[in-house]
Amino acid sequence: MTNTYTYFIANWKMFGLKKSVFGLKNVVNLTKSNNFKNIKIVYCPPVTILSQFHQLTKKTKISLGAQNCHHEKNFGPHTGNINAKMIKDVGAKYVILGHSDSRNEGDTDELINKKIKNALLQNLKIIFCIGENLKERKNNKTFLVIKKQIFKGLENVKSIDNIIFAYEPVWSIGSGKVLTADALHNDILNIKKIIQKKYKFKNPKILYGGSVNEKNILELKNVSLLNGFLIGGASQNQKKFIDIIKKTFK
Ligand code: PEP
Repeated sequence: MTNTYTYFIANWKMFGLKKSVFGLKNVVNLTKSNNFKNIKIVYCPPVTILSQFHQLTKKTKISLGAQNCHHEKNFGPHTGNINAKMIKDVGAKYVILGHSDSRNEGDTDELINKKIKNALLQNLKIIFCIGENLKERKNNKTFLVIKKQIFKGLENVKSIDNIIFAYEPVWSIGSGKVLTADALHNDILNIKKIIQKKYKFKNPKILYGGSVNEKNILELKNVSLLNGFLIGGASQNQKKFIDIIKKTFK
């Protein structure tokens, strides 16, 4: 891993109830150990339980994030939605934007761009998901797609200091399919080049997400260009999540 910190972002998607907060106790204990002082764990549970998570984690090194937000920055008549200000208010410091689930449910590059700008105004850190689908990969369009997602999603965004890129090939999310470390290294290298060319920024933070589990982490951790992982399914099980964290440093 290239940076001072290694990120482990837990995306719980639409799973979890108030009582799920008890499933964090061992992760909280892990963060107290000196061996793991350079990791950043960010839990992104559903917004309905962000308050419970905040109560348990506010005195710990664990941070919180939301899984999306509305593109309007002000309060308004948007039934069923929440904006970046509300996310900040509940104790979260991060927000996932551009996730393929949200893209599938209507988030265009333009909407994602508005969301990113509004979330940055609230001083939230953005976990910005990018990635190609299977057809695009088979047609050698991976980097064209990713370039478009980055350029449109970050239009008029001056600084990427508060942006963490998460490369999530859509075909890998929830499918159990992952790239070999060599292939992933190659993809991350290309993505870094795209970002560095646009931002003249030496070291953008890039995570990998897609079916990361306690077994394939032993292969994925060899991709030294990565700054960590965005973990969906496996992060809902604290034993598996802890296993992934421990094995990353073995
Ligand atoms: C995700 O939803 O961002 C994700 C990476 O999911 P999974 O780990 O389950 O593939």
